Amino acid sequence: MKIFKTSIIFFLIFFAVNCNKQSSEKAILVIHGGAGWISKGTISEELENEYKLKLKESLIAGRKILNNKGSSLDAVQASIRILEDSHLFNAGKGSVFTHDEKIEMDSSIMDGYSGNAGSVSGVTTIKNPIDLAREILDNSVHVFLSGKGAEDFAIERGLVKVDESYFFTKKNYDKLIQVKMENQDIKEEKIGTVGAVAIDFQNNISAGTSTGGMTNKRYGRVGDVPVIGAGTYAENGVCGISATGHGEFFIRNVVAYDIAARIKYKNENIQKASRDVIENLKSIGGLGGVIGLDQNKNVVMPFNTKGMFRGYISEKGEPVVMIYGDQN
Ligand code: ASP
Repeated sequence: MKIFKTSIIFFLIFFAVNCNKQSSEKAILVIHGGAGWISKGTISEELENEYKLKLKESLIAGRKILNNKGSSLDAVQASIRILEDSHLFNAGKGSVFTHDEKIEMDSSIMDGYSGNAGSVSGVTTIKNPIDLAREILDNSVHVFLSGKGAEDFAIERGLVKVDESYFFTKKNYDKLIQVKMENQDIKEEKIGTVGAVAIDFQNNISAGTSTGGMTNKRYGRVGDVPVIGAGTYAENGVCGISATGHGEFFIRNVVAYDIAARIKYKNENIQKASRDVIENLKSIGGLGGVIGLDQNKNVVMPFNTKGMFRGYISEKGEPVVMIYGDQN
């Protein structure tokens, strides 16, 4: 009898521990703030804390919407807007410079329920490109607007326009000068795009991504971020994905949709699908990572660089944020 009781207790403890393990990898919102060669010691502790605080703020704002029965689209947009307003990330305020010393931003958002999407590329004066992507999704017959047409549409829809000087940051300008001096094509050291994926109370999945692109890019260059299926994808019953990395590789390999297709047609789980896609990408020289959620709220955040600013949050509990490979 005693042996029986002891076994039951062991079983219960084992069960509780494993349940915990599983639940710690589930979430309703996952975000990233870019991947790159960021390893422990390359940024100061103070800056590290600044990044973590901003990631947490973004997660908490998105969760608030989801816990109030708001849509995953609204949560994704709100989380990304906070990161766009920070100088820390390469999106909105913190966007990097083109070769011509200008800012050209790309963004997209996708609704996994309707399959509708909104994308924008090459905008220079719209404070929050994610808001413009959302306006295109909600209020345009088109999916993708670029340049002047996109800016005009933003003004028609009453979005906030700012002077180009709003986007100036000394650190990004210095980075451009350094890349030019080193005669590099583009800078992929700390890439820095932002993105979010959420699932709401109606089980609808949405994903969004926003970026300034890559330092020293040629004017007019469009990366993967606004390309639906490359940098962003969402489909109810399958998954939501947002990517960050060297955009040309993500476009050529249709990364976000490739992960979804593996889940959909090969019955792979999101962990295997996303890990394999990111590993394959590395084998052909494509650096970066993705974040994703599936219909069962499983979180994935694989990357093939040294680090990736990332985090997730569940209905309750503290947000979890990480920067480096093995440790936080
Ligand atoms: N994917 C972005 C681009 O190529 C860059 C990034 O993720 O930081 O424009």
